[in-house]
Amino acid sequence: MRIVIKIGTSTLAYEGGRMNIRRVETLCKVISDIKNSGHKIILVSSGAIGMGVGKLSMNTFPEDIPSKQAAAAVGQCELMYVYDKLFTEYNHTVAQILLTGSDFSYQDRRKNFENTLEKLLELNVLPVINENDSVATKEIKVGDNDTLAAMVAKSSNSDLLVLMSDIDGLYTEDPHKSKNAKLIKVVDSLNDDIMALGGGKGSVFGTGGMKTKLQAAKICTESGCDMVILNGKDPEILYDYLEGKQVGTFFKSNKEE
Ligand code: GLU
Repeated sequence: MRIVIKIGTSTLAYEGGRMNIRRVETLCKVISDIKNSGHKIILVSSGAIGMGVGKLSMNTFPEDIPSKQAAAAVGQCELMYVYDKLFTEYNHTVAQILLTGSDFSYQDRRKNFENTLEKLLELNVLPVINENDSVATKEIKVGDNDTLAAMVAKSSNSDLLVLMSDIDGLYTEDPHKSKNAKLIKVVDSLNDDIMALGGGKGSVFGTGGMKTKLQAAKICTESGCDMVILNGKDPEILYDYLEGKQVGTFFKSNKEE
């Protein structure tokens, strides 16, 4: 299978932005192992801004754009340094690709990205993709990595998108507010009732941001790629999913059977 794995900041870092070393080490080990078993993997990794904030010991998350963009520039280096170091231990080569929304909207740039990605996979390299936060402006930003990962899954004709987040999956109600909230195991169709579970702006289930995850599911499933939301707190959950255990929330694609 060709799999895009999106890792959220909350999976990679502690609240203050410093890296969760134990978790990142397990994650790189599991992904290396899955790659060794024959799957083609593309990573979409968040964490640049969060880790920059941690590394620069900024006391609070910055509001202004230059500070955020500076934090991203610092954090992206740390992120790639750690990925390079850990994946090298398991004999995998990483490559960095930073994109903005306009790289998808201009056909020639999108084509170049797709060709580069194909070549990297052919060379057995592990591409690590993030938004180019240090240069992106509001007008050209994809804006969030759930959507970016779905666009990457579509561009690369992937079979599966895994969103690793800090929540077990999609719930019938906000699990932080209601004891009756139940995990939805399979979503066959992204109808209005399901889309409404993402809530409006600011009304998200935890920091996971269910709204962008449902939007990602739409892009992904419409392009024939399945999607699953998994809780990234134990990265070994990826093995469970690939072994057919029922974990997280699975979104079935519209591909022809
Ligand atoms: N590109 C952002 C970062 O690396 C993350 C955006 C997101 O997680 O949606 O900090």
